[in-house]
Amino acid sequence: MHNKTLVELSQALHQHECSSVELTRYFLERINNAQLNSFITVATDIALAQAQVADDRLAQGDTGVLTGIPLAHKDLFCTLGVKTSCGSKMLDNFIAPYNATVVEKCHAAGMVMLGKTNMDEFAMGSSNETSFYGPVKNPWDIQTVPGGSSGGSATAVAARLSPVATATDTGGSIRQPAALCGITGLKPTYGLVSRYGMIAFASSLDQGGPMGQSAEDVALLLNVMAGFDKRDSTSVNHPQEDYSTHLADSISGLKIGLPKEFFGTGLNANVGKVLETALSELEQAGATLHDIHLPNTHLAVPAYYIIAPAECSSNLSRYDGVRFGHRCENPEDLLDLYTRSRGEGFGAEVKRRIMIGTYALSAGYYDAYYLKAQQIRRLIRNDFTDAFKEVDVILGPTSPTTAFKIGEKIDDPVSMYLSDINTISVNLAGLPGLSIPAGFVNHLPVGLHLIGNYFSEARLLNIAHQYQQRTDWHRQIPPDFV
Ligand code: GLN
Repeated sequence: MHNKTLVELSQALHQHECSSVELTRYFLERINNAQLNSFITVATDIALAQAQVADDRLAQGDTGVLTGIPLAHKDLFCTLGVKTSCGSKMLDNFIAPYNATVVEKCHAAGMVMLGKTNMDEFAMGSSNETSFYGPVKNPWDIQTVPGGSSGGSATAVAARLSPVATATDTGGSIRQPAALCGITGLKPTYGLVSRYGMIAFASSLDQGGPMGQSAEDVALLLNVMAGFDKRDSTSVNHPQEDYSTHLADSISGLKIGLPKEFFGTGLNANVGKVLETALSELEQAGATLHDIHLPNTHLAVPAYYIIAPAECSSNLSRYDGVRFGHRCENPEDLLDLYTRSRGEGFGAEVKRRIMIGTYALSAGYYDAYYLKAQQIRRLIRNDFTDAFKEVDVILGPTSPTTAFKIGEKIDDPVSMYLSDINTISVNLAGLPGLSIPAGFVNHLPVGLHLIGNYFSEARLLNIAHQYQQRTDWHRQIPPDFV
């Protein structure tokens, strides 16, 4: 049951081979047995009630593909009446008074919410170790990290605790954990998926997207998640697409660009070998390979670590102990209320970012840091625009290494930040990026990263699907979860 694709699960539901309530119970049981710390909240009662509604809809002839299918939401999507913690002590007591648009859309499609997944605090991290609720374990090796910040969603899909999951990506948080856990994860074009009700980290970079076993599953969930939303001022009014219609198209003649910057120092040699094999697979499917340059790639991480903290210092100023979130005991005065509530509610990484961001935005430093970073952002975007004049898609490793050990990088922020060296430039440019499983190094999954031009999600998913028709890396399950 747990290794079925969404299409197979949908068939089983529509042909009444199983009910949504049965399916939901099945996955809830897997969640309860898993011991990976993937979930912050398991919404058993709500899930079973939603499954019952879905079963009623199915009995009345509902034809929705995803009706009755369970999913998990990253715990930064607001869920009405359900704790939405964002992985932080600050919001440990926060019950959202409304649903995020993404949650609303999944609900309207008849999907069943199993619960809320663990994540790095306020989505800041690459290993899921900054969560107030403790680290998530990678199901391929529980001594290693699942990546972050969407480590809970990635492990839930990888260990087949949920058929699909939602996640968000500000600098790599969908793609890097997808790579480290051996699943498929898509960061859509900025503005394609509504940010309404998504707790903000860095608003000009944050984007929600789907995680699943395969490109086909991801396409089906994206169909539900994407769409214009007038409640999000940066939502793009792009025509609604069916992302699954082009999956079967041939990729013969596809021009793949290989930026030398993604294959240089820092790339683990064995990860490089896995990519070479994947490339020859794509060549056999008719694609051609072209060397390209993205000359400003080395500036992406430094620019991101000015822009993201600057935006987060502003976004997180709302957590002041007054309106919602953690409030300290017995404040002496207003200043004491602010400082102690924030001091107690935020973890070390969040504080570090707020301080960097506040500094970068302060009078006298704004031009030197924030303005410069924005200029670099434009150069990075221009690099991609130039590259897409030559090639259809850009390929590289999602992460330069496989999953690292829990604890290995937590005291070394710079080495942690470099985990996202291949993904961050995509957020700075606002482009779509997709990570798919491409093999293993020492039993740990390797992710292949495809970057496309704006709104080329259907094409990226088509390429990934063609690759997945020829390989079965995406069908592999961690041995303890078979
Ligand atoms: N790892 C990056 C960071 O720590 C990206 C996180 C994300 O995409 N949310 O900021």
